[in-house]
Amino acid sequence: MAAQETVEHKYVYDFAEGNKDLKDLLGGKGANLAEMTNLGLPVPPGFTITTEACKAYLTTGREPDGLAAQIEAHLESLEREMGRKLGDPQDPLLVSVRSGAKFSMPGMMETVLNVGLNDRSVVGLSAQAGGNDRFAWDSYRRLIQMFGKTVCEVPGEEFEHALDDAKRAKGTQNDLDLDADDLRGLVDAYKKIFAKHTGREFPQEPREQLDLAIRAVFESWNAERAVVYRRQERIPADLGTAVNVVAMVFGNLGADSGTGVAFTRDPGSGAQGIYGDYLANAQGEDVVAGIRNTVPLQELEQIDKKSYDELLDYMARLEEHYKDLCDIEFTIERGKLWMLQTRVGKRTAAAAFVIAGQLVDEGLIDLDEALHRVNGAQLAQLMFPRFRLDHEFQPVAKGIGASPGAASGKVVFTSARAVELAAAGESVILVRRETNPDDLNGMIAAKGILTSRGGKTSHAAVVARGMGKTCVSGADELDVNVPAKKFIVAGQTVNEGDVVSIDGTTGKVYLGEVPVMPSEVVQYFEGSLDPEHIDNPLVRAVHRIMTHADAKRRLLVRTNADTGADAARARRFGAEGIGLCRTEHMFLGDRRELVERLILASTDEEREAALAALLPLQREDFIDIFREMDGLPVTVRLIDPPLHEFLPPLEQLAVNVAVAQERGEDVAKEEALLAAVRRMHEENPMLGLRGVRLGLVIPGLFAMQVRAIAEAAVEVTRSGGSACPEIMVPLVGAVQELETVRAEAEKIIAEVVGDSGVEVLIGTMIEVPRAALTAGQIAEAAQFFSFGTNDLTQMGWGFSRDDVEGAFFWRYLELGIFGISPFESIDREGVGRLVRIAAEEGRAARPGLKLGVCGEHGGDPDSVHFFHEVGLDYVSCSPFRVPVARLEAGRAAITTTGSDSR
Ligand code: ADP
Ligand code: MG
Ligand code: MG
Repeated sequence: MAAQETVEHKYVYDFAEGNKDLKDLLGGKGANLAEMTNLGLPVPPGFTITTEACKAYLTTGREPDGLAAQIEAHLESLEREMGRKLGDPQDPLLVSVRSGAKFSMPGMMETVLNVGLNDRSVVGLSAQAGGNDRFAWDSYRRLIQMFGKTVCEVPGEEFEHALDDAKRAKGTQNDLDLDADDLRGLVDAYKKIFAKHTGREFPQEPREQLDLAIRAVFESWNAERAVVYRRQERIPADLGTAVNVVAMVFGNLGADSGTGVAFTRDPGSGAQGIYGDYLANAQGEDVVAGIRNTVPLQELEQIDKKSYDELLDYMARLEEHYKDLCDIEFTIERGKLWMLQTRVGKRTAAAAFVIAGQLVDEGLIDLDEALHRVNGAQLAQLMFPRFRLDHEFQPVAKGIGASPGAASGKVVFTSARAVELAAAGESVILVRRETNPDDLNGMIAAKGILTSRGGKTSHAAVVARGMGKTCVSGADELDVNVPAKKFIVAGQTVNEGDVVSIDGTTGKVYLGEVPVMPSEVVQYFEGSLDPEHIDNPLVRAVHRIMTHADAKRRLLVRTNADTGADAARARRFGAEGIGLCRTEHMFLGDRRELVERLILASTDEEREAALAALLPLQREDFIDIFREMDGLPVTVRLIDPPLHEFLPPLEQLAVNVAVAQERGEDVAKEEALLAAVRRMHEENPMLGLRGVRLGLVIPGLFAMQVRAIAEAAVEVTRSGGSACPEIMVPLVGAVQELETVRAEAEKIIAEVVGDSGVEVLIGTMIEVPRAALTAGQIAEAAQFFSFGTNDLTQMGWGFSRDDVEGAFFWRYLELGIFGISPFESIDREGVGRLVRIAAEEGRAARPGLKLGVCGEHGGDPDSVHFFHEVGLDYVSCSPFRVPVARLEAGRAAITTTGSDSR
């Protein structure tokens, strides 16, 4: 076909030309307005300027060729359809200019209503409304306010103050009490504010208003807050926003008009019913702004039965059509209902499961789709204990649910006081304006953290999430006074020592101790709630979806467990083996003394005696675990941390020795210990004598552990059980290290196992970047790999985890250098690449090489998907995370047809 340069790029779509699948081009709002239009719902006519026009504008700094003419043409046809002209002095058409990107970015970009009003058309509008002057001037002042703030960056507070002044002059709190004259006066005041900040008069030309508003929406895509938000939410920076130009309908025309929001189901619980808010005689933004009290949507039935019935009918149709919970914005103009927006609505974790289950029951979606619609983060939320709020408790403030959980305790204002009270066995809540790295100890000691400033990426939020500690941040109703050791909220003073309760999921803050109840979902996983016989819709939905996830997933899920009790719990949660059994705790407690003997041994005999004493104790540990995991694989990691971690700290020892010497006591042993601690001191222990290096340096240490493992396995098998041990060597960086350990281990295993039928595998962790890069060689000597993604992240980024999270991660998150801590969710491009290389090269060298992951990423939803993609055999995570990993492994395995989950 010959090139046709004359064909113009299409930048503008009438609502009738779009549909819900064109979100990339028309943005979410525009695509759904088009969809509703085509369903025959009453949407005010309008058109959408595409994201491509926005992108072109942002790259070149000017509107692309043809855009202005296309807007003109669509505006003309809109004017014909409405029988009015934009800004006509007699009978003006007014429009709204609304941003709408592919992914909703709440509060990031804005909308201007009533475009087309000026000093002349305001009179025409009043005439149009039957001489309703008040309405016309109210609409005009709203235009100047929104236009000023959104398009010309006039500080919004100035308009708000002027509005407050007008209300005060009138002696009222309610903007409805302002009459036409008051509002006319307000328009004058607004114009002055506008002129003062922009150096020009408020534009009177309607088309100029429209063009400036469109351009402002384009530019809002690159506003700093939007840029940062996108980085954090991992929304690509190059999508651009669409702009919707919509004929205005008026909810502020009197008592027979109004505006509201509605949900097709309860977004809190998922229950079916009618949920929403309605506000008579108001324009859209008043509902969200909360300037007047809304009434529950049900009351609309009394106010305007016809519109109400019609709305319910549309809600049913939308839900049937989108096959999901929808939220809706609507306006009633003099008894006529208009639909202004819909989208698949946000919901709580519980509602997500319940709704997915209900939609399956109703035959609207299948189980794959139900599984696609829930996620592991939601499941994790449902596993925290919750406040029992069936009685009197009312929140006194609401901040940001920064780190989930429910915590009650005495208020403290300093880190030191938190540490002090916690040491005395008290539960404390650390309250600060915002936290900083000096608060770390107090944060560790506290049950929960409450701040009056800062968002989801503030220091408090980031550190608390890292610790798994409940945190509410940014509760700005709190007036925190640290020096006076008190805060004021809702007129009440809360002093140090008073009890408060915080809900890190909802962000709500309560005075006093709110009783806590266990999670039903955990009770179900633990087997104490039978999903077939209980009438709890949440548990039934979780059961159903989990069963489906288990049927679909390819990844196995193991647990990290060091004791028989942990192993048993994880098994109830569905663990299919142990992916990481750490042996270091087995050297603590009353066994410390044996470790000291091992370290201080000056002859082979002394060292061997110490190891011989440890052997039976280790064997018992393993017997316990093998019994609990009967028949399932258990990966045991040989001792990993440096030995001096098992000795008393240097300063403490030095003081003890000095004191004892002073008293003239015999300090020979302490002195030897002190010398050993000094000798073993390392500048950088994470990179020092640990892991396989220890095993190669201390003769007999690994051998003792290998023997204990093999003997335990034989004993369990002899007594009728089945043990499947996998011995894992930590911190290997070179195949020679592994070969050396393996040669010795195999000898011992052969000797212990004999003809018992026990099989012991030997493999390695891949946690040093060099190991990942030489995985082909290492695989020759390893029967399995287990990725230690904590160390791999630490060494891959050069981050000392204990230091960086408290010190500067909050800043990195704020800047969007990463959207989430790489310790929380695997860094796919960098650390993930190491995993991918090692998996591929390992399997190339040894086909069928068993691959797993035992870092904390094994329980992180996003990371589980990554490990599925890379082709690992299993993930391993803490017992509590096992259900989350099962669910996500199932989600990773289904091919999704559903919409974007964001
Ligand atoms: P947001 O994305 O912040 O919700 P919207 O573009 O939906 O912004 O608009 C803000 C408010 O203005 C909403 O309540 C919406 O219903 C209302 N609104 C938008 N366009 C119109 C219109 N043409 N007529 C009446 N109200 C409108
Ligand atoms: Mg909206
Ligand atoms: Mg490690």
